[in-house]
Amino acid sequence: MKHSASFRRALLLAYSSVLFFAIMLMLIYNFAAPRLFAQNKIDDLVPKGEIIAGYIESSLSGEISSGYLMPLIGSSTSQWEATVWVVNADGDTVIRTQVSNDRKVGRLPDSLAVSMLPSVLKGQTATHIGSVQDITPESTRSPYSSTNPLRFLGDADSTSAEEDLKDKIIAVAVPIFYGDEVVGAVFMAQTMREVMNSVRVLTNTIMLSIVIVLLVLLPFIFFTASRMTRPITEMRKVALTMAAGDLTVRADDQGKDEYGELGHALNVLSSELGRTISSLQLERNRLAGFINGLSEGILAFDSSARLTLINPAVSHLLGLSTDAAETDAADAELHEKNGDVIGVFDQVLQSGESVQKTLWRGKTAIHISVTPLLAPSGKLSGCVGVLSDVTSAERLEQTRRDYVANVSHELRTPLTALRALMEPLRDGLVKTEEQRQQIYDVVLRETMRLSRLVSDMLELSRLQSGTISMSISDFPPLPLLETIRDTYLPYAEDYQKTFIYDVPDALPLVRGNPDRTQQVLVALLDNAFKYTPDGGKVTLAAVPEGDLIRITVRDTGIGIAEEDLPHVFERFYKADKSHHGKGTGLGLAIAYEIMHTLGEEMSVNSAPNEGSAFTFTLHLAPQTAENA
Ligand code: ADP
Repeated sequence: MKHSASFRRALLLAYSSVLFFAIMLMLIYNFAAPRLFAQNKIDDLVPKGEIIAGYIESSLSGEISSGYLMPLIGSSTSQWEATVWVVNADGDTVIRTQVSNDRKVGRLPDSLAVSMLPSVLKGQTATHIGSVQDITPESTRSPYSSTNPLRFLGDADSTSAEEDLKDKIIAVAVPIFYGDEVVGAVFMAQTMREVMNSVRVLTNTIMLSIVIVLLVLLPFIFFTASRMTRPITEMRKVALTMAAGDLTVRADDQGKDEYGELGHALNVLSSELGRTISSLQLERNRLAGFINGLSEGILAFDSSARLTLINPAVSHLLGLSTDAAETDAADAELHEKNGDVIGVFDQVLQSGESVQKTLWRGKTAIHISVTPLLAPSGKLSGCVGVLSDVTSAERLEQTRRDYVANVSHELRTPLTALRALMEPLRDGLVKTEEQRQQIYDVVLRETMRLSRLVSDMLELSRLQSGTISMSISDFPPLPLLETIRDTYLPYAEDYQKTFIYDVPDALPLVRGNPDRTQQVLVALLDNAFKYTPDGGKVTLAAVPEGDLIRITVRDTGIGIAEEDLPHVFERFYKADKSHHGKGTGLGLAIAYEIMHTLGEEMSVNSAPNEGSAFTFTLHLAPQTAENA
C-alpha cells in the first residue's frame, strides 16, 4: 500500500524523535553513569577506610592487640573486595591485603602516595578516580619522619602494586590519628572493572528496554500517524476527484477541528464551482442553440485565420459536406472550395475594417458581412461574419429594376408610335383621307393599348395592395364555362386551332366571383391560343374533386422553360426577354392575384415545346359541399 507523504513525514518525525531520544539517553547515560557509580563507590569506601583506620587507632592506643589487628583487617577487606594499604607518615606501606586477584599485592604505588598522602596527612580524606598512571609523582619518595608510631608494623614488601592497578581505579585515603597527630593513612583501592561491569549491565538493560519500547511503539506510532493523516489523505482524494471534473463528491466536514473546516471549505468551493460551471454550460448551450438555430450562417476566425466557429446554416448555404461541429474539417473544406468566402475574411483580418460583399453560388446570392473582433487591448483578435441567403431580396430588387424598365418600355413603345404618327399629321404630310384614316386607327389602337396597360397596372397594384373588394356569391359554373366555350369555339376555328371543351354536364354550385373567374379564364385562354402554334390544341377542362372543382386550361403550345416556371405569375414576366411579344406581361399576374384574393389556388405545369396547363380551383358553395 502506498502511503501519503504526510503520513510518511509524521512517521519519520515520530520514529526519529524516539530514536534521537534513545541516542541522547545513551550518550548522557554513558557520560554520566561511570562518574556517578564511581562517586557512589567512593562514598561507600570512605566509611570502610574509616573503620580500618579506627582498628589501627585502637591498636595504637592498645585497645586491641596488634596480633588481633591483622586478621581483623584481613577479614574485613576480603568481604569488601578492596585492596588495602596502611602506610605510615613517610608513605611506606606497613600493611597491605595479602591477595588481590590471586596475586600478592605489592606496596602502595608511589604515585598514589604522592598525590593523596599530603592532604591525608593534613587530616583530610582524599579520593582518586582514574588509573594510577594518570598521576605524576612529584618526587619518588617524600622524606617523612622516621619516628613514626606505625613503624612497629614493619616494612611491607618493597614491590609496588602499580602493575596490578593498570586499569582505572577508585581510591580513598583516610588519615590515622594517634592523638591529634596523623601518623599514617589507610588507602583503599578498588578497580573500576566492577563499576564498569555494573554500568555495562545497566546499559544493556536500558538498551534492551529502549529496543522493547521501540518495538512496542512502532505499531502504535504507525497507527497514530495513519489516524492523524487519514483526514488529509481523504481530503486529497476528494480534491483530486474534483479536479478531474467530478464535482458531486463531498469531503467529510463533520469534524469540529481544522480538518472539518477544511472539508467544509472544500465542499463550499466545489458546490460554488459546480453552480458556476453548470450556469456557464447552460449559457453556452443556449448560445450554441441560438447560433445553430439561426437561418443566417455564422463564421468566426481567430487572428491567425483559423476557423473557431461555424453553424449548420453555413454548411447549408455553402453546401459543405463536413459536419459544422468538426471545425478543423470544415476549415479545410472552406479553404478548398470557398476561396472567395475565405478571401473576404482574410481581407478583414488584414485591414481591420468591416467588409460586406454579395457572392453568387449558382443561382443563390449570399451576402457576407464580416466585422473585425477587437480584444480589450484594442488588438485585432479575429473576425466574425454573417452569411445570409439574399437570393429573394436580390430577385426582388431585380424585379423592381425590371418593373421600372418594363413600365418605361411598355409606355415608350406606344408613345413612340403615337409620336411617329402625329408628326406627319401635324406637318401636313399625310395627304389622302385614306392614309389619315389609317393613322387614326393606329393612334386609337395604341391609345387603347396604353390605357389597357395603365388600367392593368392599376388593377394589379390595387389587387396586391388589397384595396379592391370583390363580391362573393354562390353561382353555377356551367353557364359561365359555356359562355366561354361559345366565345372561343369560333375563335379557334379562325386560327386553325382545336378547342376542346372537357366539362361534365352538371357541376355543383361554387362560391366566388363569376365575373372575376371569367376574367381569369379569358386571360388563360388568350395566352393558350397566343402561345400555341396553328394546328395545336387548347383544352378547357373542369374536374370536381372533393369540395372543389379544378378548372384547367391546357394547350399544346410552346411551353415554358423549367427555370421560368416559378416566375410566370410575377408581373411583367415574359418568357420572351426581349419583350417584343404583344402582351404586357401582366395578365397572369392579375389572374393569380384575383384567385389569391378569392382564396383559390393557381398553379402551372409546363414543358418547353410540349405545352402548358394552368389550373385554378373553385371551391364549392358550402351547402353544396355538405351534400357532396
Ligand atoms: P402577356 O400579356 O405577355 O401574355 P402574361 O402575364 O399573360 O403576359 O404571360 C406572361 C408570360 O408567360 C408570357 O409572356 C409568356 O411568355 C408566358 N406564358 C403565359 N401563358 C403561356 C402559355 N400558355 N404557353 C407558353 N407561355 C405562356
